[in-house]
Amino acid sequence: MGTIYIVIASLIRSLGGEVIIPPRTSKKTLSLGTQYSPEAICLPYKLLLGNYIEAIEHGAEAVIMINSPGICRLGEYSTSIRNALDDLGYKIKYIDLDLYKGKFAEMMRCLKTVTGNTNLITVAGALNIAFNKIFILDNLDNVLSYYRARELEFGAAERAYNKALKWIDEASTKKELKEANLLALQEIKKTPIDPNKEVLKVDLTGEIFMVLDSFSNQNLERELGKLGVETKRSMSLGGWLKTAIIPKFMRKEETHIERAFKFAKPYLLRDIGGDAIESVSDVAYATSRGIDGIIHISPFTCMPEIMSQNIFPRMRQDGAIPILPLVLDEQTGTAGFVTRLEAFVDLMRRKKMQVAAGMAY
Ligand code: SF4
Repeated sequence: MGTIYIVIASLIRSLGGEVIIPPRTSKKTLSLGTQYSPEAICLPYKLLLGNYIEAIEHGAEAVIMINSPGICRLGEYSTSIRNALDDLGYKIKYIDLDLYKGKFAEMMRCLKTVTGNTNLITVAGALNIAFNKIFILDNLDNVLSYYRARELEFGAAERAYNKALKWIDEASTKKELKEANLLALQEIKKTPIDPNKEVLKVDLTGEIFMVLDSFSNQNLERELGKLGVETKRSMSLGGWLKTAIIPKFMRKEETHIERAFKFAKPYLLRDIGGDAIESVSDVAYATSRGIDGIIHISPFTCMPEIMSQNIFPRMRQDGAIPILPLVLDEQTGTAGFVTRLEAFVDLMRRKKMQVAAGMAY
């Protein structure tokens, strides 16, 4: 799921474990996952299964899967993936990180099983660095998006970003991480840009895996960057961490889910699974900030996001900003996808011009 591998690998390595990072998610990963998955299961499941198979083929002896509370199919992922790997005959250790059973205690149990390290101080230090990496990576994504929408040579900002990822990945102490972050920001900021370019600002929301994973969303942010659009992910790893892991007394600001319950009213009053309440509220929140548009991304057959997409027409009637719902799966073709993005960008530009000219929209 996007750059999360950097965080998990850092955590396990700093506790003395060895990590096998599977190849980047590719068509081969998708094809492996699809071959051994139920046909109608959601896309993230197929990609995760494909990632696991590739990791095992590269020598992984154990795999970890988060089993998280929720009303959607995520709660079934772990058991189903375990069964699929068993059926394929892989003799690996399957470690369930079961967040149903508690957060920190369960994380400690999982890390102990993987690395054998039980020293509380070392574990706390490693978690601290891993959590900081999450916030740094989120920020780098925003900086990349700013530069990509304005760069003079297409691809320059992303090349710098990829170098930066490597530095963040390699940092293993607090001091190294601080230096890597500074260096990373400097590197991306070296990208030659046109600072006066008129860019559109678009938020991305939807099912978290699809928002964060560039393979699953067909490099949506890169395509939008080419069209002069700066994106901001409403769903982020840092947001998830604050909501799901960091206890209330350790954080100051409102979490994404707390904001979601406020902004989703009156359209949705309770959590219906997945990221639906966040998605609906993100549209209302983006509208309140007056940005140019919002894109909602979900995998085909994702039930919570089908519900949120059915709420959007009503939000449009109530004056919401332009919303583009994208439902993606392994059958989605690139050409049609890019055409839809171009049409959406045209629509947002026209609306902006009409508003600037004082015309009713
Ligand atoms: S939110 Fe949607 S895509 Fe994600 S696990 Fe649940 S049903 Fe599947």
